[in-house]
Amino acid sequence: MTTTRFAPSPTGYIHVGNLRTALMNYLIARKAGGTFILRIDDTDPERSKEEYVDAIKQDLEWLGLHWDRVERQSERLDRYAEAADKLREMGRFYEAFETPTELDLKRKKQLNMGKPPVYDRAALNLSEAEKDALRAERGNGVWRFKLDHERIEWNDGILGDISIDAASVSDPVLIRGDGQVLYTIASVVDDTEMGVTDVVRGSDHVTNTATQIQIIEALGGTCPRFAHHSLLTGPQGEALSKRLGTLALRDLREQGVQPMALLSLMARLGSSDPVELRSEMAELIDGFDINRFGAAPTKFDVQDLFPLTAKHLQSLPLADVVDAVAEAGVPADLAEPFWAMARENITTLDDLKGWWELCRDGAEPLIADEDRDFIAEAIALLPEGPFDGETWGSWTKAVKEATGRKGKGLFMPLRKALTGMERGPEMAALLPLLQVIRARG
Ligand code: GLU
Repeated sequence: MTTTRFAPSPTGYIHVGNLRTALMNYLIARKAGGTFILRIDDTDPERSKEEYVDAIKQDLEWLGLHWDRVERQSERLDRYAEAADKLREMGRFYEAFETPTELDLKRKKQLNMGKPPVYDRAALNLSEAEKDALRAERGNGVWRFKLDHERIEWNDGILGDISIDAASVSDPVLIRGDGQVLYTIASVVDDTEMGVTDVVRGSDHVTNTATQIQIIEALGGTCPRFAHHSLLTGPQGEALSKRLGTLALRDLREQGVQPMALLSLMARLGSSDPVELRSEMAELIDGFDINRFGAAPTKFDVQDLFPLTAKHLQSLPLADVVDAVAEAGVPADLAEPFWAMARENITTLDDLKGWWELCRDGAEPLIADEDRDFIAEAIALLPEGPFDGETWGSWTKAVKEATGRKGKGLFMPLRKALTGMERGPEMAALLPLLQVIRARG
């Protein structure tokens, strides 16, 4: 059965880059009728925070990316220790004692000689006595996985055929000197034991994948299918990594971005299919195909989310936004006509407030000197209330007959006098909602 997982580290809020990973894994699982696991990668006790675990769940729930179960790496440390023992017994695990400074120096030397900066495995030559001495001096060493120096190959769901020479990669550290288990081994143990069949993650993990394939094989597991999506860049192709902090999902939510707008964009961005606004998750699931994504960096412009949000809102019936309409201050008996008037004139639901204020308080009239008499005449012709959708039509007809004005010369001064703006909602829909005028009627 298809099983995928989204595996965030709870060391911060999740952002659009993480969302891409979460969404792709979610869609693959749902399309196959499989299982989507939320795995919390919290083996780092210092950086992992419970508040981020809660925030990640809230963000995913907001988007409707429901998971089938949650797993936490911090609760599975004994499983990782077991796997580490197994690797030790197999002779694939060795302790190394270099300090970060020493490693840095080695790297610099290698680079100076035009060699790739790969760990030289000096620790493999240490005798037991030398290790004891180093342990006494520096504390426990780190544990490195001894890669087999052969080519590691897989067919990537996005990148196609990949072949990496293991000799060009440093033996990965799987356990730190202080005993902390690192993601590379924890992830392998989890993916294997949880029967994960498909792993989609960012292309920054490609080298990890190469080493993880060897670890999975050493532990006798089955490799999942891997796909690595390209990293997001800004609209000009600039690196987004530094700005991702401001592209947290909760910030986008704050700014009024609608989940379906965000999901519709992210389910297609970087693929050969056009971005289309969808109204239901089911449509996204149906239309998803990981193989249609490309390896090139993907441009992301946060501004693209707003037209999609606006379009999505326009399509909604009052029932879907009734809370937001009430929050904007609109009385329940006016909610229906208010929403009908406002929905094509908002970008986000936050804009409702402004339209309601206009209805409730009126606007500072915008009247050009040459229109003063005209406006006075028009106001005198305003019929008795109550107003409805026909009032604007019959009123402007009467004004036209009385003043001889027509077209823009007739409508624009009236719009500006009533709304203080040159553009806005259909006047026929707005007029019955203008409270000053209603009060008169
Ligand atoms: N915790 C890892 C990350 O957030 C998970 C990577 C993976 O999907 O394996 O980068």
